[in-house]
Amino acid sequence: MRPLPQLTPANEWFWTSGADGRLRIQGCEDCKTLVHPPVPICPACRSRNWTPVEVSGRATVVGFTVNHQRWLSSFEPPYVIANVALAEDPNVRLTTNIVDCAPEDVAIGQEVVVRFEQHDDVWLPLFAPTGEIDPTDRVAAPTRAVPRPPLTTDRFEHRSVLSGIGRSAIGRRLMVDPLSLTVDACLAAVADAGLTLDDIDGLSTYPGAAAMGMSEGGVTAVEEALRIHPTWINGGGDLPGPGGSVIAAMLAVAAGLCRHVLCFRTVWESTYAALGLESTGGGGRVSGVNGEWRLPFGAASAANWIGMNANQYLHRYGASREMLGWIALTARANASRNPVAIYRDPMTMDDYLNARPITSPFGLFDCDVPCDASIAVVVSDASVAGDLPKPAVRIEAVGTQILERISWEQDTITHEPQVLGQSAHLWTRTDLRPADVDLALVYDGFTFNAISWLEGLGFCGLGEAEDWLDGGRRIALDGDLPINPHGGQLSEGRTHGYGFIYEAVAQLRHEAGDRQVANAGTAVVTSGGGTPSGVLLLQRD
Ligand code: ZN
Repeated sequence: MRPLPQLTPANEWFWTSGADGRLRIQGCEDCKTLVHPPVPICPACRSRNWTPVEVSGRATVVGFTVNHQRWLSSFEPPYVIANVALAEDPNVRLTTNIVDCAPEDVAIGQEVVVRFEQHDDVWLPLFAPTGEIDPTDRVAAPTRAVPRPPLTTDRFEHRSVLSGIGRSAIGRRLMVDPLSLTVDACLAAVADAGLTLDDIDGLSTYPGAAAMGMSEGGVTAVEEALRIHPTWINGGGDLPGPGGSVIAAMLAVAAGLCRHVLCFRTVWESTYAALGLESTGGGGRVSGVNGEWRLPFGAASAANWIGMNANQYLHRYGASREMLGWIALTARANASRNPVAIYRDPMTMDDYLNARPITSPFGLFDCDVPCDASIAVVVSDASVAGDLPKPAVRIEAVGTQILERISWEQDTITHEPQVLGQSAHLWTRTDLRPADVDLALVYDGFTFNAISWLEGLGFCGLGEAEDWLDGGRRIALDGDLPINPHGGQLSEGRTHGYGFIYEAVAQLRHEAGDRQVANAGTAVVTSGGGTPSGVLLLQRD
């Protein structure tokens, strides 16, 4: 039995529309805009008047992934998850399954038509090929949207520095309590900054007390352990990426509320899974944006959601899987010089291309490594910069503006969403340009995320990464723009954003040992993407 959407007053009309064989989409009664998923106000004209509008049920495949991984006990791999654009308005899309078609025959541009499948009181809109190919490109070319200009010439970013970094053991199935990992990282970071816990007056984290092996319990758990009596705290997932918790700390310091904020991020997904705590997602009702609109179609993982966009990219720009492979190979080559990285053995392009398929175009080595780890960073008032035991790292600028819909499938599908806007925003807050950057720490939850960030930040043009990578030479440790010298999340482990900040600070202090980037003075660090994201531009003081 598939997971089914929890019916509510807001969505019941949509999930029962198929009872008469017709697909209906929310339509604004005033400006006629079609809106999906349903919201209580028209995003185009802000009218509150809307009604379900019958549409033809014809659509075009604009993204797809052939899923080979058993995420849910109720779905037998392989199966095809697709993003289809409605014939009436290609900006209205549905995540769905393609049926009555062999997985290898599904393609971008294929025309499909709705076919409802009833489960209890829910009619799931699935789609089957019509046999026609849509001659029109239904996906708008991505554009670099224009951010809001800075309000003043003052930069809050310059009022704080990164003064300390620390981390716990990083590994697979450490079988250690996650709060214990957090305490290890926090004590190390405070000592690294030449401080004591009594100096710390703020705590900040991401994503707070989240479940699923993604946190130690947040500020509540950490304050119960450390008892620092902070003047300010912050924790949550609605931040500009995991690094947004550091940006929030910078704001608190700039505003004078705190002097030294201890920021931390802990994952224990590996042990969490080993303990059998993860859900197998059998039957039952699901809700929330990622639950309701994706789980009924077996689109259970960000690998599926991003894989659909990666296939749109490869189709659109004529790029090959080898482009993604250079990201994975570069990470692995760098990790061989990082004693704490989880995967350090050399990898060849053949190894990469022949790895177990996960969800097309991704194989095992396109995906980062779930692990156990905690990393902590201390944000201090800039006035202490000269008193630190190690070189201070200053923050030149941040990028945080949301310029696209926060949706995995409704807006940007040529790249990972939530990358282009934040990148553009960064460059409005500094006179530096991409050519001034010595190394890039680009979020690589999947190889395609790193490609999206490199293009989003403007190191090369949109769709130009394959040529620009130059067989990996451009991004190698001795290349024009070294990326992820520690091996990234693909090889060091999925520390979920904070690993990039740790490595950037180590590199800018010139204490990265065998993997040190020569003369590293300026580093860009990204975290998130898909979800709201954030970018930091850091410099050696
Ligand atoms: Zn309207």
